[in-house]
Amino acid sequence: MKKTVIIISSILLIMLTSFVIYILLQSKKTDNAVETISILNNNYDNETNNEISEDKSNQSTDVVINDKKDNDKQNKKKNKSNKNRIYKEVNETVYAITTVHIREKDDIKSSIVTTLSLGDILKRTAVGSNGWSKVKYNNITGYISTQYISKEKPPKQEKVILNVDSNRKIDPSKPMVALTFDDGPNPNSTPEILKTLEKYKCVATFFDVGKCMKSYPQITQKEEAIGCEVGSHTYAHKNLDTLSKDEILEDIKMAEDIYKETLGHDLTLVRPPYGDANSTVKLTLNYPLINWDVDTMDWKTKDKESIIAEVNKIGNLDGRIILMHSIYKSTADAVAKLVPQLLKQGYELVTISELAKYKQIELKTHTSYWGFK
Ligand SMILES: [Zn+2]
Repeated sequence: MKKTVIIISSILLIMLTSFVIYILLQSKKTDNAVETISILNNNYDNETNNEISEDKSNQSTDVVINDKKDNDKQNKKKNKSNKNRIYKEVNETVYAITTVHIREKDDIKSSIVTTLSLGDILKRTAVGSNGWSKVKYNNITGYISTQYISKEKPPKQEKVILNVDSNRKIDPSKPMVALTFDDGPNPNSTPEILKTLEKYKCVATFFDVGKCMKSYPQITQKEEAIGCEVGSHTYAHKNLDTLSKDEILEDIKMAEDIYKETLGHDLTLVRPPYGDANSTVKLTLNYPLINWDVDTMDWKTKDKESIIAEVNKIGNLDGRIILMHSIYKSTADAVAKLVPQLLKQGYELVTISELAKYKQIELKTHTSYWGFK
């Protein structure tokens, strides 16, 4: 009997010890997992500082109609508040701070009465608790999303004098396309892209990041020396939508300074990181904001053939702006094949300013562009 009790006790003791060891091992494993995730996050942070990618797969032209884009996101929230909407009567002059619709009702699905442009003056007669304002524009009454109007007069959209080299021979009857490269300069892949452009006597536009320009000024200088256009992709490649007006101004000032220090003249074109430019960004930046209408997805696939396939699936490229990044070897490889292919198809490869000129698009400050078709 005594023997049986000892055996059972021993078994129980072994089971208890095993359980304790198992629990200890599990907690160690979790610690490792947490550590791995934190290392991954750190790497990601470092990567976003140096090698940054766009994440805009399919920007449609309706992004300029801001009330649709943003209100869709908040639709659910607003539908809820719409049920209890309260309007406070006012009588004041306000301005449209972007391209925006006046709608029949205070609902994103309601029909459009008219479309306003930046700077249009209107009367506000009531402010709603649901994010809408009741307005009068000429003889029209309707509702407008409150975030796109302001009591403060917005800056004027001024025409920009384009930086076009008049010595370059361009045949205006040919179809034209603009290759654009972001996030560089990069010492490994940007010179390779420049070599291809030089070989075929072609030009492109580089939207260089200020702090990369600071590290490799000679690459940015080479871009311009071979006839390419250089714009700014901001100083630190932050998403401008997340910054305050002062933070945006601080970044662009640093970008302007390093640009002038590197190239000896003033900046004229800006591409906001990720193509993101909300109304605060547009009102703050005194530049045309140049986006794209063909995304090669090079930042995602990092595959030469996929990059070329993305361009080929578009069909007619006349007037298009193609997005690529000058920081990947795969992009440089794709460019070596893509450039002669486009030339063979009869395209003229031009800079952004040349494309705007020949497509008769007046580039204005405080305005976003998604291609010149
Ligand atoms: Zn970028």
